[in-house]
Amino acid sequence: MDLSFFAAGAAHGPVNPWVALAYLVAGVFFILALRGLSSPATSRAGNRNGMIGMAIAVVTTLVTHDIANIVEIGVAILLGGIIGITVARRVAMTAMPELVAAFHSLVGLAAVLVGLAAWLNPTAFGITDADGQILVASRVELGLGIAIGAITFSGSVIAFLKLSGKMSGSPILLPMRHVINLGTLLTIIGLVAAYAMSGAGGAGEGLLVVWITLAAFIIGFLLIIPIGGADMPVVVSMLNSYSGWAAAAMGFTLGNTAMIITGALVGSSGAILSYIMCRAMNRSFISVIAGGFGADDSAGGGEAREQRPFKQGSAADAAFMLEQAEKVIIIPGYGMAVAQAQHALREMADLLEEKGVEVKYAIHPVAGRMPGHMNVLLAEASVEYDKVFELEDINSEFAQADVAFIIGANDVVNPAAKTDKSSPIYGMPVFDVDKAKQVFFIKRSMGGVGYAGVDNDVFYMDQTMMLLSDAKKMVEEIVKAID
Ligand code: NDP
Repeated sequence: MDLSFFAAGAAHGPVNPWVALAYLVAGVFFILALRGLSSPATSRAGNRNGMIGMAIAVVTTLVTHDIANIVEIGVAILLGGIIGITVARRVAMTAMPELVAAFHSLVGLAAVLVGLAAWLNPTAFGITDADGQILVASRVELGLGIAIGAITFSGSVIAFLKLSGKMSGSPILLPMRHVINLGTLLTIIGLVAAYAMSGAGGAGEGLLVVWITLAAFIIGFLLIIPIGGADMPVVVSMLNSYSGWAAAAMGFTLGNTAMIITGALVGSSGAILSYIMCRAMNRSFISVIAGGFGADDSAGGGEAREQRPFKQGSAADAAFMLEQAEKVIIIPGYGMAVAQAQHALREMADLLEEKGVEVKYAIHPVAGRMPGHMNVLLAEASVEYDKVFELEDINSEFAQADVAFIIGANDVVNPAAKTDKSSPIYGMPVFDVDKAKQVFFIKRSMGGVGYAGVDNDVFYMDQTMMLLSDAKKMVEEIVKAID
């Protein structure tokens, strides 16, 4: 096949209109992918569109560049594909956030390596002037790309270690951390500016690139260690955003518009998601991305808890009261994901509906361990989307509910978020479950705490019945008792 009409699209030469068109089409597919992913009902189509867009972008890039060794690229794609499929099949839904953080770290590292490769061999990337010096604009792109990539890498590694429990999830607050962070950030900007101005090449220039890389690795680490507890979901999506900007910066270096478009889409959608999540948790966006700004040095859970009286019930008690109810609101949380109780839960809801009970699901924006975690699990169990409600749409309905059925949720129903200024979750909007006539609270033991590690007054309310068991087992027993 004659592909010569494509050939002028490579590197920084004049852009061939066919290449530009192909990348534009890929960009449109990426936008359709994001649109599709905004709702569980259209997310499969969204994923499909993303894959089509990526296939177009990869094939266009391959046919428009002089490929030194297509076999090496093929083997790399095959190996990466096999690893990706294996990991995707094996990973538990509850481990998704740490997997996402681990993948972001690879995107960041890739940006650093591409940047270093372009710096070491600029002619191959078409970023030199007539004297063989790297162009000033390319130096800025290279410096920023390497810096953002390195921040994404080290930040994501820390997020992975925190989320997977390999490192304490509590904030690590260094003295004078804001001064140190600001100083490091200004140093990076100064180093990038110095690199952009230095046209001499040689060892001095090399040292600048090494310093940019090292300083950025350090600030990525410093920015994430002070973040803990309830702010972690925002960090995951913020790192997603950083990885997009790193890719976009590298797109400029490589003269690849598809990479610029994709990077900008990932960067801006990650930033928007972080902003939405901050609003949902009543956290300041700036304070989260600045790294624990305003975090209380004494914050963090795990403190010894006093023994307080509570009521415990059985599956039979719960089944009896659920059957008598007119309206039940189910609040799923992380524990439902751990127990994989969504199918049993759906069965329970079906049985109740057959008996004329109105059943709704209430989803908190940060329930579980990743954005949309609960929506995905309920969709997997074929729960109809019109029965699933966001926090702001359903919170006023608890006053009319006979039963608030909390299954594996904890922080998202904790009233301390409204009343206790010293609590690490203070300010996060939570479900008003205390307004329901009855509250059923499924968890395994009174000792277990939620992600933020704090006690929950809902356990001890008069209208609360604790159902202490694995969530799936308890719901299966309730189903048997209703039958
Ligand atoms: P929590 O983490 O607050 O609570 C989980 C509850 O589930 C606990 O009460 C636990 O108690 C119970 N549980 C665990 N396993 C089981 C099981 N097998 N059967 C029954 N119960 C079980 O969950 P929420 O969803 O309410 O809150 C999410 C928290 O995670 C928030 O603080 C949020 O900020 C944070 N977070 C959210 C992310 C996101 O993007 N959504 C990402 C990272 C963190 P017990 O151990 O006694 O069973």
